[in-house]
Amino acid sequence: QRMMEIRKLNCHPMTMKVTSYKSPVFIHQGHMQWLWDTDGKRYLDFFAGVATVSVGHCHPKVTAVAVAQMKRLWHTTCIYVTPPLQEYCEKLASLLPDPLKVVYLTNSGSEANDLAMLMARLHTGNHDIITLRGSYHGGSPQTMALTSNSAYKYPVANGGCTTTMCPDVFRGPWGGSHCRDSPVQTIRTCDCPQGQCMANDKYIGQLDETFATSLPSRVAAFFAEPIQGVGGAVQYPKDYLKQAYQRVRERGGVCIADEVQTGFGRTGSHFWGFQGHEVMPDIVTMAKGIAGGFPMGALVTTPEIAAAFSKGAHFNTYGGNPMACSIASSVLDVMKEDGTQQNSLVVGTYLLTELAKLRDKHEIIGDVRGKGLQIGVEMVEDKVSRTPLPPAAMNDIFEETKDMGVLIGKGGVYGQAESGQTPPLRPRRKARLKEHLARQSLETRVK
Ligand code: PMP
Repeated sequence: QRMMEIRKLNCHPMTMKVTSYKSPVFIHQGHMQWLWDTDGKRYLDFFAGVATVSVGHCHPKVTAVAVAQMKRLWHTTCIYVTPPLQEYCEKLASLLPDPLKVVYLTNSGSEANDLAMLMARLHTGNHDIITLRGSYHGGSPQTMALTSNSAYKYPVANGGCTTTMCPDVFRGPWGGSHCRDSPVQTIRTCDCPQGQCMANDKYIGQLDETFATSLPSRVAAFFAEPIQGVGGAVQYPKDYLKQAYQRVRERGGVCIADEVQTGFGRTGSHFWGFQGHEVMPDIVTMAKGIAGGFPMGALVTTPEIAAAFSKGAHFNTYGGNPMACSIASSVLDVMKEDGTQQNSLVVGTYLLTELAKLRDKHEIIGDVRGKGLQIGVEMVEDKVSRTPLPPAAMNDIFEETKDMGVLIGKGGVYGQAESGQTPPLRPRRKARLKEHLARQSLETRVK
């Protein structure tokens, strides 16, 4: 009883506007792909801690390393070098191509992107930043300005479109393929009262237009996720990033790959998402899968960019924490031993193939897209109009899959990630969905 009272008072998910359940799910134990709630119910964790648990919950090898490190040393701050820190930076740098060899460790993806923004400005001496519609780059005030997805913004200055802290963030044209035939058609940019956001509907030509009409001749940085995650598993057209990088560099800017979701082999074909676009970023930011769920982020850049940054004093109390570094190091070892990248490719290809069959069969699946194990299923009213399924209907699917023991995530730019107020699925459709899901036992689905 006392536990319940405490939970009711402090329960974090209850305060969340997005991706949360109607009533809190109390998870208390995990093992690999499984989670158990406090009532002993088992769930298949298809969302992997929001794309974070890269080698499984409480992987025995990682757990053993963490316990050993915990007995040895928890914390020192970045003033000192520790063996786990040294070992991890070497390992991580070896996974990136030259000249990306200088590693900075943070505690989250937002922090890594904040740092990237600062570094780009210091290195280039420029101020303007370009991000893309549908993007998500973090929840700190600065990265919220980079983020275009309005679900994650607040109606106050720092959560708005352009902020007093970041007056020079411009929204670039690409918004993604939410309509199979017309890739950027219906993306909504944020409703910036100043009219400074770009609302273009075409690809690279529109980036040129952004440069021509809104940006001074020089820019500091271009931020892009190799595949947009929170925006709805959105992929760019072939060569889009290549051409965008070229244009940004011509104007003196640096190119930043936000690998928070795409990194560490998730896309299957490559260890880093940018490799799938045949581009070479100047700064790579990462988090999530980096330490399998232990809070950690990182930024890797070139010695030249690092030199401009090192002129100032930078301090991060927990960045490079020995616990985080030893866990991240062990996660990399396990990834290698277990072949997780290859697994992403094999299981991801299987999932994409099977989901595509469901798409062809069911009216409410508008599209299936993604790469490796970064997969999105677009839920629509019907295939012809491709009208996004209302948030409340999406919530029904979210709740019912949970009741059946499968945890999934919600995303996109049409509010489906939010706790919707619109009418739920029509009863017949709801019944059909339930029937379809019930056809397979959990065990069959797991296989
Ligand atoms: N970038 C991307 C692409 C992300 O998906 C996220 C988290 N969803 C972030 C940055 C922010 O990471 P964090 O929540 O660790 O601050």
